[in-house]
Parts: sequence; structure tokens; C-alpha cells
Amino acid sequence: MRLEGSLPHIHAQALLRDEYYQAQENRDNELAAIAERKAKAALELAALQADVRSVITDKMSDWQKEGNCITMENDIFFPSKGRDVDYAKSICADCPVKSTCLEFAIDNKIDKGVWGGTSERERRKIIRQRKMVLNQEQN
Ligand code: SF4
Repeated sequence: MRLEGSLPHIHAQALLRDEYYQAQENRDNELAAIAERKAKAALELAALQADVRSVITDKMSDWQKEGNCITMENDIFFPSKGRDVDYAKSICADCPVKSTCLEFAIDNKIDKGVWGGTSERERRKIIRQRKMVLNQEQN
């Protein structure tokens, strides 16, 4: 999860600024006006994304704000099918809220993504093992 001012947007704004100055140098007022509008739109988009991010952050539990993933892209923790989860798990490895995160995912039956250093399959296994232990204790 990344906070405001992500590199791709800063990069996009820089490119648009270059485009604007290039058009001005060429004395092409129409192109300069288009480039200026595009630059303003990119800034507005970046500001909107920052607003959305701050709303999401406000709604997070305190423990979530302390996670190692707070400044990272979500995609890392929700890799598309076939991509491994090792990188996400390496970020979780020394996370100060790792066990809270894992229990949150288990309690809320979250079956997608890496939580508390575990993949979906590993969490299913933990749940099965816990049920087995519980059954054994009851018998
Ligand atoms: S354990 Fe992993 S997913 Fe959970 S808060 Fe920490 S870094 Fe994020």
C-alpha cells in the first residue's frame, strides 16, 4: 500500500511538464494548452488518489497502520494466479503485527492474499490443524 505521491505519478507529471515546455518552445499554443490541461488532470488525479488513500488509512485498524506493508503496493500481497508469494512473505517476516494480521485473516475468513506471512493455502492448513486439535480435545 502506497501513500500519496507515487513514483509513477511524479514521473508522469514530469513527462507532461516536459511536453508542455517543448510545445511552448515550438510556439505551438494549441499543443501547449493541451499539455497544460493534461498536466493539471494528472495533478488532480494524484490529489484524488492521495485523498482515497487517506480515507482508507483512516478506516484501518491501528495494527494495520503499523504493518510493514503500509507503504507497499497491494498487488504484492495479492499476486495474480501463478505468481509466487515469496516476496510478500519476506516483507511479512519481520512485521511487528504479523500474528495479529494472521489471526485477523483467519477470524474474518479472508481467503485471498498474503496475511501474517501466510498464503491462502497455508491459512487453510492452519485452520484444518486447529480444528483437528479442537476435535481431539473434545473427544
Ligand atoms: S504481516 Fe504482512 S500483510 Fe500483515 S500487516 Fe504485516 S506486512 Fe502487512
